[in-house]
Amino acid sequence: MMLIKGAIVHRGSAAGENHLSVKDILVEEGLVTRVESSIEPAPGMEIINASGLIAIPGLVNAHTHSTHGLLRGVPADLPLELWMLQSLLLPLPDDAELSKLVVLAGAAEMIRSGVTAVVDHVRLPNQTEPAGIIPVVEAYQRAGIRAKVAPLVRDLPYVSTLPFDVPSWVKEKLEDGRLSAAKIGSALDEMAGWFKGRPSRVGMMLGPSTPDRCSADLLRKTKELADKHSLGITMHFVESRRSSDSCRKVHGRSAVAVLEDTGLLSPDLNLSLVHAVHIDDPGIDAVAAAGASVVHCPVSNLRLGNGPAPVRRLLDAGVNVALGTDGLGTGGSESMFGPLRMASLLHRNDPDYRKWVTAAEAFRMATLGGAAIVSRGGQSKGLELGARADIVLLDGSSLPLMPLNNLVEQVAYSADSSCVRTVIVDGKAIFLNGKMIAFDEQGLMDEIHSRWRHRIRHLVTFLEEPWPSLFLDEKK
Ligand SMILES: [Zn+2]
Repeated sequence: MMLIKGAIVHRGSAAGENHLSVKDILVEEGLVTRVESSIEPAPGMEIINASGLIAIPGLVNAHTHSTHGLLRGVPADLPLELWMLQSLLLPLPDDAELSKLVVLAGAAEMIRSGVTAVVDHVRLPNQTEPAGIIPVVEAYQRAGIRAKVAPLVRDLPYVSTLPFDVPSWVKEKLEDGRLSAAKIGSALDEMAGWFKGRPSRVGMMLGPSTPDRCSADLLRKTKELADKHSLGITMHFVESRRSSDSCRKVHGRSAVAVLEDTGLLSPDLNLSLVHAVHIDDPGIDAVAAAGASVVHCPVSNLRLGNGPAPVRRLLDAGVNVALGTDGLGTGGSESMFGPLRMASLLHRNDPDYRKWVTAAEAFRMATLGGAAIVSRGGQSKGLELGARADIVLLDGSSLPLMPLNNLVEQVAYSADSSCVRTVIVDGKAIFLNGKMIAFDEQGLMDEIHSRWRHRIRHLVTFLEEPWPSLFLDEKK
C-alpha cells in the first residue's frame, strides 16, 4: 500500500484538461483507490512526500526497438530504405547477457523521462528461436517498467521489397528472410505459451514487420495467434512512400487492403499501426472503423525524410493516436519529451490555426493514447479511481516548470528529463527522488562500454561504404 501525500494532481483524463488540485493518492494492490484532499496514513503504508511535486499519468513509449540500443548515432542522414539495409547488416547484441544490458539501458533512459510503459518491437537474433525473447523479458522485469514485447518477424527477404539493386554479398547476407510462415508462427505460439501464468506487467504482443515484408500466410497466422492468445498486434505501416509502393508490388494491393484481406483490420483486435505517414483518407476511415490505433513517431519520421503523418485527420476521424521514439537507431533518444514536443510542433503548417495539433492533444497521445494500446481498456483512465497506478511525479521547482503557468503546455514545450523526480509503476516506485531503484546505472554503462568497444571500429569502417550511390541509382 502506498500513500502519495500532497501532490499537485493532473488527472489527465480529458484532452485539454488542465485542472490542478493538491491531493493525496492512495494506491492499493497496484491500483489508484482514493484521490482525496487528505488521507490519513495507516501502519505499513509506504509514504511518498510529494509536496511541491506534480503527479501526472505515466508517459507511454508505444514504439521502440530495444535491440537498436547500440546503434545510436551510427547510420545517420539516410532515408529509411538505406538505413534499414545498414541496420540489418549490423550485428545485434550477440548473447543473452548483452541483450539484457542493452534493454536495461534503454529502459533507464525511458524511466528517467517519465515513461512507465513501453511497446518493444524487438528484433531477435533468430526469429524462430522462442528462447530469444527471455533475456528481453527478464530485463524489463528487472527494470520494473510495464512492457509489451513484440518479436519483429517477416518471412519475405528484405531486398526483394527494394526498388533498387543491391550487391550480391548484401543479398546473400540478408537471405534469412526466407523462413516459412508456419515455422515463425509455431515459434510465436511457443513464446505466447511461455508467458502464461507469469506476472502480467511484462507481456507479449505480435509484431509483423510491415505488410510488404510479410506474406499473406504470415499475416493470417498473426490474426490466428492474436485470437488464440488474446494478444495485441503492432506493425510498421506505410512509413515511407517507397514502403507503400512496395506493398502494391508484393501483394498487388494497398497496405490497408492487405490488412482487410488477412482479417487484421478488425474491431476484435488491439491493432496498432506504427507511422501511417502515407495513408490516404479512405485508409484513415477504414482504420478508424476497425478501432485500430496509430503510433506517431515524429522524430524518426523527420530524421528518415518520410515527412509528417496526417495526425489532424487521424484525430478527427476518431483514431486513437499514441507516440513512440522508434528506438535509438532512428529516434536518437528513448526520452519521450522529444516526440511529445514534436507531435504538436510538427503539425502547424495549416493557415487555419484551429486545426493545429495542440499541446493537450500531444500530451494525451503520450499518456492515455499509449496506455490504450498497452492495456486496451484497462489503463487509459489517467489518475482516476481504479486505474493502474502508473504515476510520474514531476519536480515543480525544476526550471522548465517554473513558474507553473500551464502544466500541459510546459510539459509539451519546456520539460525534459530533469523535471522527473519519481516514477511509479503498478504502485511501486522504480525511480525515487532522482535515483534508479532496481539496478546500478553506472555499472550498467561501464559493462556495455567494455563489452561493445571492440565493435566500434567495425561499425565506422562499415559506414564508409558508398550507400547513397545505390539509392541514387534507384530504378524508376
Ligand atoms: Zn520502428
